[in-house]
Amino acid sequence: MSSIFFYNTRTRKKEAFRSLKEGRAGIYTCGPTVYGPQHIGNVRSQLFADLLKRFLLSEGFDVTHVINITDVGHLVSDGDEGEDKMELAAQRAGESAEEIADRYTESWRQDRRAVNCLEPEFNPKATDHIAEQIELGVRLDEGGYLYRIEDGIYFDISRFPRYVELAGLDLEGQAGAQRIEQVEGKRHPADFAIWKFADPEVRRLQEWDSPWGRGFPGWHLECSAMSSRYLGEHFDIHTGGIDLATVHHTNEVAQSECAFGVHPWVEYWLHNEFLDFGGEKMSKSRGNVKTLSDLEERGYAPLAFRYFFLQAHYRQQQTFNEESMEAAAKGHGRLVALAAELRVAEGVGDRAAQAAHREKFREAMADDLNAPRAMAVLWDVARSSTLSSADRRDLLLDFDAVLGLDLANAEAAGEGYETDPRIDGLLEEREQARANKDFGTADRIRDELTAEGVELIDTPEGPRWRRG
Ligand code: AMP
Ligand code: ZN
Repeated sequence: MSSIFFYNTRTRKKEAFRSLKEGRAGIYTCGPTVYGPQHIGNVRSQLFADLLKRFLLSEGFDVTHVINITDVGHLVSDGDEGEDKMELAAQRAGESAEEIADRYTESWRQDRRAVNCLEPEFNPKATDHIAEQIELGVRLDEGGYLYRIEDGIYFDISRFPRYVELAGLDLEGQAGAQRIEQVEGKRHPADFAIWKFADPEVRRLQEWDSPWGRGFPGWHLECSAMSSRYLGEHFDIHTGGIDLATVHHTNEVAQSECAFGVHPWVEYWLHNEFLDFGGEKMSKSRGNVKTLSDLEERGYAPLAFRYFFLQAHYRQQQTFNEESMEAAAKGHGRLVALAAELRVAEGVGDRAAQAAHREKFREAMADDLNAPRAMAVLWDVARSSTLSSADRRDLLLDFDAVLGLDLANAEAAGEGYETDPRIDGLLEEREQARANKDFGTADRIRDELTAEGVELIDTPEGPRWRRG
């Protein structure tokens, strides 16, 4: 079989994928900072990593996927300054950092299940790996990579000449622009905290003893410590949103290559581009949406968002707005309806008739996970007038193992829905309000119906309902 190609941020080219151990692939994905609900941009980064994993599984790899949970140390600014996001959220809510972390870890997991992401093999929390982080810091300290200033222990980037490589940084320009805020005493603006001392005046909720004094780990340290714990000190693939490449991932590379004595530490760095909101500031009062629950309130199923995600290549910026989401939901609805029909098709498929389609689909995915091209192949098959129903069914289900739209459970429209003139009328009224962007009325009608125990379901033929 021909090679799989991935665009590697580290080398800035598409490269054939060769795993370190034959037949196995280790993936580390930077996970959420659990101080609040994730927005659908964060979901995009999860969906991208899931697509990667699903494709490698379909290629026969035994995949170990690690996604961390950041529940300490991620500061409001990238420059080791400002408050810890977790501490801040806890203070605002009058709860413990742990309560906040548990709540948003759970909602993050629910979101992942809702968009049909596979469970990671490991989902470690930073606060459960403080000892590993300290141990890594000690190795760096022994190697002479660290220095101490008043507020913490810092990594000296002048000790690591390859510092700029991953993201192709221009440090002179960057330092000049003061992109990273200065902490008093740092030798270079890009030096970063390995350990921050707890301020004796401020009672932090989360702090630990260390060889350097009481405090908490710098944010970047956790990803090096947890990836090595679960994937070893040299592994195949690291993913995250493109915003992480210049600081977080650059710092992960510096501390890992120096502590572990490896180069490259990670073979392939894959970054997803941003979901952008058309320059619009998101706020509920404007009626624009940002979480999966917001989407659901607008009548969009989480899997319709997965369909939306699959319409753009992961390295393209994708613009989210009501119109594009509406179009994706329609496409998703039509696909679900077709899949539901095909699901009950009788007969056995003919592998020979399917082969060319399989090859086209694989070619698209092997070309740096080109999901839009793969979706076009899926639609050709779904609509084909030459393939038998059994072949279309087999192909759709196999493609879906990679795409993750859960077509195996597609329900035919009309299955299990109810009718009632009054409720049908209200539903129609709500559709009219949504079409007029009168979300206030639409929401009011939905709330009324929900209070009556009516569950609304979006189908290709429009909204339907049943008693919950
Ligand atoms: P955070 O919870 O802020 O640490 O972010 C979790 C993941 O979401 C990281 O990989 C980010 O790079 C990614 N991310 C943040 N915003 C967006 C966005 N608008 N589109 C795509 N990915 C994003
Ligand atoms: Zn990370």
